[in-house]
Amino acid sequence: MSVRVVARIRPLLKLELERDVIVEAASSGNEPLGSPSVIRIPNPKSDTESFSFQFNSVYAQEATQQDIFDNEVAPTVKHLFNGFDVTLFAYGVTGTGKTHTMRGGKTLAERGVIPRLLSSIYRRSRKIEKDTAGTTEVQVSMSYYEIYNDRVYDLFEPPEKRTPAGLPIRDNNGKSMVVGLTERPCTSLKDFELLYDQANVNRSTSATKLNAHSSRSHAILCVKLSQATDTHVRISTASAIDLAGSEDNRRTDNNKERLVESSNINKSLFVLAQCVEAISKKQPRIPYRESKMTRILSLGQNNGLTVMILNLAPVRSYHLDTLSSLNFANRTK
Ligand code: ADP
Ligand code: MG
Repeated sequence: MSVRVVARIRPLLKLELERDVIVEAASSGNEPLGSPSVIRIPNPKSDTESFSFQFNSVYAQEATQQDIFDNEVAPTVKHLFNGFDVTLFAYGVTGTGKTHTMRGGKTLAERGVIPRLLSSIYRRSRKIEKDTAGTTEVQVSMSYYEIYNDRVYDLFEPPEKRTPAGLPIRDNNGKSMVVGLTERPCTSLKDFELLYDQANVNRSTSATKLNAHSSRSHAILCVKLSQATDTHVRISTASAIDLAGSEDNRRTDNNKERLVESSNINKSLFVLAQCVEAISKKQPRIPYRESKMTRILSLGQNNGLTVMILNLAPVRSYHLDTLSSLNFANRTK
């Protein structure tokens, strides 16, 4: 079991008026991209002091989608095919680049780690089938759901078909399962992208219906890989999670509903941090059963690999939120 915690500072956006960059990757410029590295941020209470945080890697503004994939995700694909689970999280405040990192934009260069991961899985599958002269059959299927207000909703269900209470979770042989969750086979990248895009439309329309914002739900994509020979089936899962925004919603929007949402988000992120910390410190007990998300993911239970990407905005208007993100991630080491 292992975990990497890496930070990614997004670039200034074209439409962003603010130019006051305060978050910087502190490096000499000679390190290979993604090597252990430090982030510096001013102490908001002092004009001269700054804080430093160290992570497994720090990606500066100019890092590309390909850099993130090549360094952080591509190396996990081998483990996935060896039968281990892989879990990728994007953590951060709304507007810092979680969805960009995970899903990305429309062009090839802007594609996020999820489509790149799938592309890599299909490429490797075809190779294995060819190398074993067709005696190994590789199949890919996906489920995609969100956890909003501690309730699980299938993103393959159109929002109008949702039951407000969400889907139940049941234990089966020590593993927790979401009952009634759709699992869709997808045989090619194209196939995957069609399903994934449709589900993402469901995600945003359901948020609009609930008068909420999709930034307040965790979106959890699970890709199941099954490698079958005559005698044996090996199953492993890659999960990619676009987490709910970690900002303190209470500051801005403190009606009762938002408070309930915030406390659910805070609790699930808190348990997530405890689990990641327990994994990284190789503690015997991982409290994964204490939130729905970590329980369904069985986080840390399958000798798997976990990568947490901490998304950060570079500018001063995020100062306090950025510090709390950095402190959050720092605790998990
Ligand atoms: P989040 O999902 O954390 O709320 P988004 O992924 O939606 O944040 O990013 C906010 C905005 O910043 C979007 O317009 C997105 O396209 C842009 N963005 C984020 N990261 C990058 C990046 N590395 N390069 C270019 N644009 C980015
Ligand atoms: Mg987002």
